[in-house]
Formats: sequence, C-alpha cells, structure tokens
Amino acid sequence: MMPAKILDGMKIANEIRGEVAEEVKAMAAAGVRPGLAVVLVGHNPASEIYVRGKVKACEEVGVYSEQHTPPETATTDQLLNLIEDLNRRDQIDGILVQLPLPPQVDSKKVLMAVDPAKDVDGFHPVNVGFLSTQRPGLVPGTPAGVIEILKRNHIPIAGQEAVVVGRSDIVGKPAAMLLLNANATVTVCHSRTRDLPGVCRRADILVAAIGRAGMITRDFVKPGATVIDVGMNKVTDPAEFQRLYGGNAKREEAFRTKGSTLVGDVHPEVSEVAGALTPVPGGVGPLTIAMLMYNTVKAAKLRRGARVPELTRK
Ligand code: NAP
Repeated sequence: MMPAKILDGMKIANEIRGEVAEEVKAMAAAGVRPGLAVVLVGHNPASEIYVRGKVKACEEVGVYSEQHTPPETATTDQLLNLIEDLNRRDQIDGILVQLPLPPQVDSKKVLMAVDPAKDVDGFHPVNVGFLSTQRPGLVPGTPAGVIEILKRNHIPIAGQEAVVVGRSDIVGKPAAMLLLNANATVTVCHSRTRDLPGVCRRADILVAAIGRAGMITRDFVKPGATVIDVGMNKVTDPAEFQRLYGGNAKREEAFRTKGSTLVGDVHPEVSEVAGALTPVPGGVGPLTIAMLMYNTVKAAKLRRGARVPELTRK
C-alpha cells in the first residue's frame, strides 16, 4: 500500500491569506478597512502566543487590529462594558475574546454579549443557528479550515461517510454540521460511543478532534480513507513519546532538546493505511488563523450588506 498523501495545511492557509489580502485591497479602494479587536485578559502564556499570531496575521493581510488587555482581576461587568463599547464602534468588524477567561468571569455571559454580526469565532448561538439552517453567518475557524483542506485537495464530500470523533462546540459539532451541509453522511462519536474503532472504520473521511495524543491507531482507519487530525497535544512523557515516535530520528532529536513535542490525535502509523492525512504540526493548525482573517473580512461585508463570495472556487 502506498503511504498516505500528506495534506499541507500551511500551503492552503497561505493561499487563503493571499485571497483575503486581495479582498482587503479591493475594499480599501472602496474606502473600507476591516478591523479586528482582540480581548486578552491576564497573562496566560499560551493565549499570549495565540494572540500575537492573530495580530501579526492582521498586519500581513492589511486588516486593522487592536488589542485590549484587561488585568487578570477583571470582572464580568468590566468585560461586558468593554464588549458593549466594541459592539458600538463602526471601525470594529470582528471581536475575538481569547479563551480561557479567568475563573471569576462568567465566560458564557461575555461570549453571549458579543454582537453576532461581529462574532468572528462563530461561537454565538445565533451563528450556531445560522450554520445549522444554512444561512449566511460566521462559522468557527478550525472546522471551516477542515472543509477548506478537503475542498482544496479535491476530496469529495457529498455522499461520503464522514465520522467526527469529538462533539465540542468549537470543533466537533460545527465540523459535523459543515460536513452535513456539504452532503456527507455524518456520524458523531464521543467518549460514550460503543465500538469506536468499528464506527471509525466506516469513514471515508475521519475527523479526529479529541485531545488525546495518538489515540486513533491503524485499526480505526479504513484503507484509503482521508484522515483529518485536529488534535494538538503537547507530549512531555518519554514513554508516551516512544509509543508514538520511537525510531523517528528527527522527532527524537527535537524531543531531546525541547523536552516536549506537539502531537495530533492520530497515531503516525495511520500514514500506512490512510489515503490522505493532515500532519501535526502543519495541518489543520495554520487554517484557524487564516479562517479568522477570512471571517473578519466576511463580517465587514455582511455588516455592510455586501454579498460574500464563496471562498473555494469549485
Ligand atoms: P474538548 O472540548 O475536550 O472535546 C473533546 C471531545 O473528544 C469530547 O466530545 C469528548 O467526548 C471526546 N473524547 C474524549 N476522549 C474520548 C475517547 N477516549 N473516546 C472518544 N471520544 C473522546 O476538545 P476540543 O476543544 O474539541 O479540542 C479537541 C482537540 O483539538 C484538542 O487536541 C485541541 O487542542 C485541538 N484543537 C486544535 C485547534 C487548531 O488546530 N487550531 C483548535 C481547537 C482545538 P465527551 O463529549 O463524551 O466528553
């Protein structure tokens, strides 16, 4: 059997960023500059890295951006006031509240306060409803990125058996809904699913969004299936590392020097059975920020009543 085709997420993310930059240029000619406000509360190191990446992406595609950094001690009311202010400002098309918020803050209340028209993460129930009823709205970036990877690699979705492992509001559920909207036959699995490997083996398209390093092994995968690995797990335990990447000289060297490595939910041995596979890193990951840029431009257009072009040329 041929080893799986590796689906390069970086290449597709760059394509999308290029398209968004073109769009931003065209809007500038019409006197509009899309703007994104990022709210980062406190000093979570991982969140700080993500926010830096998002702000840098804005600069690269020509989107205006601003950062709001309330202290770790911020209250729900203070954040609600900030969101209200951002909701009102015409210069701001997208509002992104970086999660997690500190424990004293009512996260749901804060996310619900974001104007659905500016909800570039697509988490507001109004946008969830638009997605499920196939109306124009804002779709969460990571699952939207999964669909872009499939479409731009010309992997058929309509009529295919798709299995999504994971049912979170930010990845699993919207991924399942997008696949359903694209006419796949969709099964959603979770921690209570009976015979998970058997159900996964039915999939022509298998999406893993679990958060468990290398859980999807070869016996979960039908030969030739497309496997999309959304998982991003930091592995620091040497025994676990050995189970996944023992014998891979390049990864072993990196693990020795860094003391950790980023691993997906899919075991590397799956590349021997799958037809196509997204790597970690360099697969779904880069799409998340690219789709955030796309959503910011989309929000700017939707708010002004402009038609939004389909992203993928069919
Ligand atoms: P989550 O909220 O923790 O959800 C995990 C899901 O996996 C749950 O639905 C859970 O089932 C299911 N699950 C857990 N253990 C399982 C098992 N042993 N068998 C079957 N199902 C199991 O995680 P998430 O936020 O969706 O994220 C999933 C992964 O994607 C994480 O590794 C995360 O880091 C990564 N991620 C990547 C990106 C990106 O690439 N940019 C973005 C977001 C997330 P129950 O519902 O029954 O508990």
